[in-house]
Amino acid sequence: MELIMGHADTAGAGRRQSPVTLLIVGGGIMGLWAAVKAGRAGIDTLLIDGSGVASGASGGILGALMPHMPDRWSAKKQFQFDALLSLEEEIAALEAETGLDAGYRRCGRLIPLPKPHLVDIALGHQRDADIHWRQGSRSFAWNVITAPLEAGWPVVETGQPLVHDTFAARVSPRGLTAALRRSAERLANVSIMEGTDVVGFDTAGSAALLSDGERIAYGHCIVAAGHRSFDLLASLGPDLPRPLGQAVKGQAALLRAAINPDLPLVFLDGLYIVPHGDGTVAIGSTSENSFDQPFDTDSQLEDLTARARALVPSLHDADVIARWAGLRPKAIERDPMVGPHPEHGNVLALTGGFKVSFGLAHRLAEAVLAPLTGASISLPPGFDMAHHLASASRQR
Ligand SMILES: Cc1cc2nc3c(=O)[nH]c(=O)nc-3n(C[C@H](O)[C@H](O)[C@H](O)COP(=O)(O)OP(=O)(O)OC[C@H]3O[C@@H](n4cnc5c(N)ncnc54)[C@H](O)[C@@H]3O)c2cc1C
Repeated sequence: MELIMGHADTAGAGRRQSPVTLLIVGGGIMGLWAAVKAGRAGIDTLLIDGSGVASGASGGILGALMPHMPDRWSAKKQFQFDALLSLEEEIAALEAETGLDAGYRRCGRLIPLPKPHLVDIALGHQRDADIHWRQGSRSFAWNVITAPLEAGWPVVETGQPLVHDTFAARVSPRGLTAALRRSAERLANVSIMEGTDVVGFDTAGSAALLSDGERIAYGHCIVAAGHRSFDLLASLGPDLPRPLGQAVKGQAALLRAAINPDLPLVFLDGLYIVPHGDGTVAIGSTSENSFDQPFDTDSQLEDLTARARALVPSLHDADVIARWAGLRPKAIERDPMVGPHPEHGNVLALTGGFKVSFGLAHRLAEAVLAPLTGASISLPPGFDMAHHLASASRQR
């Protein structure tokens, strides 16, 4: 077990006698933002991660920050828009504080429109974005254009339209999680403990039981254990519908490529091509509901890479320098699962970010901390853990 302490009185945290004010289970993007936000709010916090901080899905390589479509506007889309916009300032402040580069850039996105009817739909979205993608003096567009901004990025037939979304962004998952970790370590009231799993809770829901036989009592506990959150949360209520969620495997690759790092990311039929600022281009992702080898890559990734090379010929000879697979947390109702456990209100879910965690985690963390900070942050109704459970119960 490795314990990194922000202050001296947390020594021997695994054996602590007095409860920690806030225990966070899981140091992925969700748990890290929660730790940083809690620490900044002056809350005595212990983050515990069995396999090590950012060793789960958040230790990946893709880093696309893609908004929902601007049509059929809803509370959920507004929440995501606000979160994606505020992330820009959050990351700038984090980089200034830590001196680390999170690889963030609002690079935009290009989406080829290979069929004529898609152009009409896109023109409708252009009008929707004009209405909804704005805040104060900032506004963003879903423009229909007739040629890529740079020839061959991506390759399309002459005159074939594309969407240019000016709101999408990219970030380095490993850069951002490293900066968050550094920030958490700088906070005197935040400690990080690695190498020991939380295996369950006591019946009162007031202490976590650890894989080394120890227990940690807490005032509040945030469960941000990625796809493993669902079983942990379910273990606190024998009558809850199960499963509360599932793991969805994804594979991605990283290529070394001398391309302009300011280019927009390219998206087509589930394929993402994300230019990063360090001379690499990430390609993703598969989406696999069933799999035998959760962390192996296979021919599905080779197919995806071949599609990317065909769409962007400048990647044709680029070397693959990393192949990676991880497990996304998908809650029963697909949206994030956040907030108090229905039977133990001091246990708070912070999971289910599925494919969009990196854009939302900072705002979800603020919302889940509201019972401790007194902040008032409203979440879209579908994100609430109770909503997920009610909906799952109806389906039983
Ligand atoms: C191929 C791929 C590409 C993706 N691309 C994007 C993208 O472009 N943009 C985006 O926003 N999202 C993307 N995602 C999704 C994103 O990576 C996840 O939604 C996100 O990382 C989940 O973060 P998390 O903190 O909830 O979980 P995780 O990152 O999985 O973190 C959970 C942590 O909890 C720890 N843990 C688990 N159980 C326990 C326990 N019992 N006790 C103690 N510790 C425990 C783990 O060790 C882990 O570190 C992608 C995912 C994949 C697989």
